[in-house]
Amino acid sequence: MTVLLFHSPDDPVELWVAELRRQLPDVEIRTTPDFGDPSEIDYALVWKPPAGLLASLPNLRVTFSIAAGIDHILADPERPTHVPIVRMLDDNLRDMMSEWAILGVLYFHRFMPEYMAEQPKAIWDRRWPIYTPETHVGVLGLGAIGRDVAEKFRVLGFQVHGWSRTPREVAGIICHHGAAGLEAMLPQCRYLVCVLPLTDETRGIIGARTIAALPEDAVVVNLGRGGHVVDEDLLAALDSGHLRGAFLDVFNEEPLPPGHAYWRHPKVVMTPHVAGELVPQSCAKAIARNLNAHMSGAAMEGVLDLERGY
Ligand code: NAP
Repeated sequence: MTVLLFHSPDDPVELWVAELRRQLPDVEIRTTPDFGDPSEIDYALVWKPPAGLLASLPNLRVTFSIAAGIDHILADPERPTHVPIVRMLDDNLRDMMSEWAILGVLYFHRFMPEYMAEQPKAIWDRRWPIYTPETHVGVLGLGAIGRDVAEKFRVLGFQVHGWSRTPREVAGIICHHGAAGLEAMLPQCRYLVCVLPLTDETRGIIGARTIAALPEDAVVVNLGRGGHVVDEDLLAALDSGHLRGAFLDVFNEEPLPPGHAYWRHPKVVMTPHVAGELVPQSCAKAIARNLNAHMSGAAMEGVLDLERGY
């Protein structure tokens, strides 16, 4: 019998196992840490696998990521390099990410930080609106998630820019790519939304140089990975007044240490890496589609391209 090993320190294991059994009735589902004979494992479905776990499975055929990103798997230096890695492509995850990006932008766009601060003081102080049709939102990343984010901001009436590595065309979106494209886009963006994968090229992309290129009073919304932000540079720009705020879901260190400046910073709004959740009822179907495709020799969706790193 085909065996799938599930490992995640952060997900509801019983719910996942129940959904996987429902979608893959002919596959045996095992979970860490007591999963029996490692040589019996054919497939692994993992979030943050401990170093060496994947290498200990001699007959592993595919590693599926319990995330749209695969950086948590590449972080394992012992990971078997001949085993393909497949990231999660899931409509519910994509939609949740777009919701969170919109929440972050609208929170600032409709002056919620100001109104929330004034409410306990019973201050009735109306702000003059920012005119949406002339407000530019820049979306870093135009992939499965970023494209949806960009299109939904367009529906809300913003001027929307998207940035990718290679040239892209998306109806209604002003598309940019590469270093020159980023340079052209940034000065226009009152809101900068990051939905990039974390790679050698994108690590630290929201650092002093990028931030300085944004207009005064811009807001940074990050739901990519914590490694995209240079924390000291973001904090310096918030403290100097150059940036109006930051809406953050992901951090260089997770959980964020209790002493970190973000927790109590008046211009930072943060959530604990929940922008896009992988709900088993939806994601197990995506896993089943890919696993069945692999077993029947068909192509899988979302296979990692090692050369580009995402
Ligand atoms: P994807 O489909 O692989 O798309 C990645 C996009 O980023 C593509 O448009 C790609 O450009 C662009 N890109 C990659 N490297 C670049 C570079 N060096 N310069 C410019 N653009 C670059 O990924 P996705 O499914 O949309 O997911 C994006 C990321 O969201 C994930 O990797 C993960 O980090 C994050 N995420 C976070 C959460 C959360 O809960 N916070 C949940 C899910 C996902 P091309 O179009 O040219 O390839």
